[in-house]
Formats: sequence, structure tokens, C-alpha cells
Amino acid sequence: MTQNLPHHHGNSEEKIREHLPNREEITGVAEAMKQLGDPSRLQIFWLLCHCEECVLNIAALMNMTSPAVSHHLRLLKSSGLIVSRREGKEMYYRTADTDLAQTLHRTIETIARITCPEN
Ligand SMILES: [Zn+2]
Repeated sequence: MTQNLPHHHGNSEEKIREHLPNREEITGVAEAMKQLGDPSRLQIFWLLCHCEECVLNIAALMNMTSPAVSHHLRLLKSSGLIVSRREGKEMYYRTADTDLAQTLHRTIETIARITCPEN
């Protein structure tokens, strides 16, 4: 049996309670958004929404060292926002083909008023 709320403010409490995401469902989203809380990672994520690139090119585009870029790529990859592909000695990175990554891509562009080069 669910406990009644201490106060009533005219909200449809039952409906809200019913739809409240559980911790397991929301953890992956929170982790992904936490990783995008860093401006460099946000830029790298956005960049990889539009092209598949290697560490050296990302570093050149970002004006960063490749160890710094590698660090950000590891975090983005472990949160499931980007994927990598090996071709010979080279490793290529791009945004994951998931609803979450695509939604975050559009959200970043909407909030920051960035024009998507794909449009
Ligand atoms: Zn875009």
C-alpha cells in the first residue's frame, strides 16, 4: 500500500507516482548527462554526432593533446554515448546509435542554438 503524501497541492499524485522512473531505469541517463557536464566532453560528443574520427584528428579539431582527448573518449564510451571501431592500427570514434545519444544531440543543439551541419 502506498503512503499518502503529507500535503495536497492539487497534483494528480497517483499518476505521478505511477510514472516516476525507478532508479535502475534512470541511472544510465544520469550517468550520460553527468559525462556531458564537462564542456570538452560535450564538444567532443557533439563533434562525433556528425563525423567518425580518430584521436589525432579530434585532438587537432579540439586544440587539445591526444592523451587528454583519449581520457574524454574513455569516459564517453563507458557511459555508452560513443562507440569505437578499429581499422588496422587506427581507432575511430562516433556517437552511439541510441535514442538517448540522438536525443542529447538534438537537445544540445536546441539549448545552445547550434546549427546541425546535417540539416
Ligand atoms: Zn547535429
